[in-house]
Amino acid sequence: MHRPYNLSAGPAILPPEVFERTAAQIGMVGTLGPADDPSLEARLSILEISHRSKTFDRIHEAAIDLCHTVLGVPRTHKVLLLQGGASTQFAMVPMNLRRADKPACYVDTGVWASKAIAESKLFGETRTLASSAPRHDHVPEMPAADTYADASYVHLTSNNTIYGTEWERIPKLAGDVPLVVDLSSNIGSREMGIENVALGYAGAQKNLGPSGVTLAFVREDLLALPPTVPVPTMLRYATHAAENSLYNTPNTFGILVLRNVLEWMRDHGGVVGIGAVNQRKAKAIYDTLDASSLYRAHAKPGSRSRMNVTWTLAGTDGSHSEAQTETLTKRFLAAAEKAGFCGLKGHRLVGGCRASIYNAFPEDGVVALVAFMNEFERTA
Ligand code: PMP
Repeated sequence: MHRPYNLSAGPAILPPEVFERTAAQIGMVGTLGPADDPSLEARLSILEISHRSKTFDRIHEAAIDLCHTVLGVPRTHKVLLLQGGASTQFAMVPMNLRRADKPACYVDTGVWASKAIAESKLFGETRTLASSAPRHDHVPEMPAADTYADASYVHLTSNNTIYGTEWERIPKLAGDVPLVVDLSSNIGSREMGIENVALGYAGAQKNLGPSGVTLAFVREDLLALPPTVPVPTMLRYATHAAENSLYNTPNTFGILVLRNVLEWMRDHGGVVGIGAVNQRKAKAIYDTLDASSLYRAHAKPGSRSRMNVTWTLAGTDGSHSEAQTETLTKRFLAAAEKAGFCGLKGHRLVGGCRASIYNAFPEDGVVALVAFMNEFERTA
């Protein structure tokens, strides 16, 4: 039987090669070490070895190095492999980066950005520089420098998973205000200006691996600044930086899979090669939506995500009634499920459909999806 096409928003599809390799590394007879690794751990499973063993250390160091070489994290930044998801970062950022009497500035592009804003408000003055509310169908223009010149930092969400909007490029801020970016749903998907980020973070469960490991990278000079509020030890970036993310037991399994995914990315052309494929995949679906009189893309041109493509079945210019749209959407999703496409139901805030076509989603899956969409429209 054909494997279903997995269009889930996250945890999400991973490359088949990674599943195969990781399965062997979990197995009773492990394959963790290269043939010349003399340690006993190298012949055990990743699930049972110490995070302080030489075998794990090699995997951990490789994962960190690949974050620099494959994802493009600048060498001026410390890579941290943490837990608690991107949601914990919403709180860690203000706790660690707020400067006394300097507001934290945010661009509000929907639910995840709002959650980050809410955490910041717990710690002091928080300014929303720009917003895409209420529809969140675009990303706003980057606000002028004088609106954030006095900020502790400016925070953006590079890709808005729910609405399918994405910054075309990560902007370079004026002056020396640090830029903080939630990269959870498009990290590693193309060249996008990661060098402009002072502090970046991403839950791994979309482009990088399984849930339970969170990548953060922090410019060294920011690590040296003491927080201006009391911060619990586990929530200080400096704790994890000083201990190379081994202050406590990390998610060893998640870090192994992250390493495997990053090696897969490296072997598939890195962010440049993968970015070109992602561009073609997204374009094929947006072209289908734009040519259709049934489907209607949610995101506006210029802000359209290459990772999460969202649409409703509202007809061109919203010509269908709500009831008609709802019936058609139900039929579409049921038929898609039958045809082997899973995870296509849109987030309840947007409705309709969402195709999450992360790095590992194959191009032939997009060809099949487009053919299915065209056939559904023809017979609807
Ligand atoms: N930010 C974005 C852009 C997301 O898509 C998500 C999860 N879908 C989160 C943050 C929250 O991540 P986590 O569940 O890892 O806390």
